[in-house]
Amino acid sequence: MPDEPTPPPPTLDQLNRLLRQHLASLEAAGVEWLLASRVPLPLFIVPDASTAPVEEAPDGPEARGRELTVLAERVSGCARCAELASARTQTVFGVGRLDPEVCFVGEAPGRDEDAQGEPFVGAAGQMLTRIIAAMGFRREDVYICNIIKCRPPGNRKPEAAEAHNCREYLERQLGLVRPRHICALGATPITYLLGTSRSIRSMRGTVHYYKGIPVVCTYHPAYLLLGHRSTDEQEIRERKKMVWEDMKLLLSLMGRPVEKKPSDDSSLPSPPSSGEGG
Ligand code: URA
Repeated sequence: MPDEPTPPPPTLDQLNRLLRQHLASLEAAGVEWLLASRVPLPLFIVPDASTAPVEEAPDGPEARGRELTVLAERVSGCARCAELASARTQTVFGVGRLDPEVCFVGEAPGRDEDAQGEPFVGAAGQMLTRIIAAMGFRREDVYICNIIKCRPPGNRKPEAAEAHNCREYLERQLGLVRPRHICALGATPITYLLGTSRSIRSMRGTVHYYKGIPVVCTYHPAYLLLGHRSTDEQEIRERKKMVWEDMKLLLSLMGRPVEKKPSDDSSLPSPPSSGEGG
């Protein structure tokens, strides 16, 4: 059998991005400093991820829809991350319409999503659906996907290498879906979509850009669930207030400003009392 062709070496930009992602994941894991070494460290690059040539997205929605199906099919057989590929029930690609006003990007499928093959269908997903409804949309009006398409075992955070391996799929997916706005749900999409290790707190309230598409950053809906890092109802109300402020920013970018309601600070609906939180 002929040898597999060797992928081209990564560009400086790609190395730079990998390094930043790796440092961000170390920082997220609590590593505050690193020992300087004079010995060159081996760099682990998974072949065929961001080294793949950029494909032009076709223009018409029918052609893009077809390409999206082909991409989802390709993703369903992906084995770039051996651990994820062997543990998953199925890949979880994304749902929603083409050319949506907004695409919500989460972290990774959890247990329910892995079982059903659809993003955000568990407890956090029900909260997201309520947020979408509070904004005046239905789930089918928007697009929903994740940074990685496989459930990490035990719902752990995706590793930098996993996000890197899935990056090509996400870029192509967003290129075909063409959302007018993006909402990054939590630290993982902020890190891997926007390529920054900045905190959610510092990213909220201003508009960022992914390939020219305006991005609003907010907390992950699991953060609004009682029992997920807080059992304090007042704290949950505060969190909901912040998320609702972010959704109002998003709505104002869409030219759909929200009239002030008396219950504005807690306009987001009450969460289910507990959940997997993933
Ligand atoms: N959490 C996520 O980030 N994505 C999902 O699809 C479900 C829970």
